[in-house]
Amino acid sequence: MKKREKLALIRAHYPNAITTIDSINRLIDFVEERLDLEPSQIMLADSICSDDVNSIQYPVRAGEFLGPFKMGGLDGFPFTGLTGMGAFASHVPDEGAVFVYYGPHIGISKEGIVGEIHRYGQHKSSACCGAAKGALNKLMNDAIIPGNLNDMDYQMNTIEQILFKEKARILAAIQPLKEATEVIYEAIDERINVLVSQTKYTCKHVILLGAIHINSDTNIGSFTSAKRFELINLATNERQNLMEEFLK
Ligand SMILES: [Zn+2]
Repeated sequence: MKKREKLALIRAHYPNAITTIDSINRLIDFVEERLDLEPSQIMLADSICSDDVNSIQYPVRAGEFLGPFKMGGLDGFPFTGLTGMGAFASHVPDEGAVFVYYGPHIGISKEGIVGEIHRYGQHKSSACCGAAKGALNKLMNDAIIPGNLNDMDYQMNTIEQILFKEKARILAAIQPLKEATEVIYEAIDERINVLVSQTKYTCKHVILLGAIHINSDTNIGSFTSAKRFELINLATNERQNLMEEFLK
């Protein structure tokens, strides 16, 4: 499958999607040209689902950054919290920057089925994100107990509670899984911004790239549908919205 065919498949659902490889290439160009830094001065933290597909499809060139520090648990919610953000904030080179890539993920198979991908070596496709789909099934079956956060399945219960708060919105949507993914993005984005505001950094900049992360079949790869691309100057607290620059 050619790159333009892969993009057409994904853009039918996420019109601004680019390949994750291209998003990392753009990021590297950005830090070199706009911040005059080397990728090795950037501490990468990601808050994406712990699903093995995200390790398998991790772009090789991301290895030019330091890290990654893994903030995410199920469906990318930043479960490592203030301690996690404080940890990598204290590991970043003095003249460098922190780059956080965050968001929930959703599968789109080669056949265009949303919420499924074909994984290597398997006969059948499987759920992606499995946690989001599981929580959505419970929501549809009235099986989520408000306020339930059990130690044995704490991360899953957290995803369930996020969806439960937007039950009417999700169930009214034409594509409930896609809407649930938007709801989870909003919860992650809000939490990341609170974590950033409550963390002390020794470096100069924080770069935020918030997105719906899209996985497809093994031979198609992964994609980024950006929702926020911002540069925060830590000396002045000034925030620059760079979405247009990122998407052009
Ligand atoms: Zn997942």
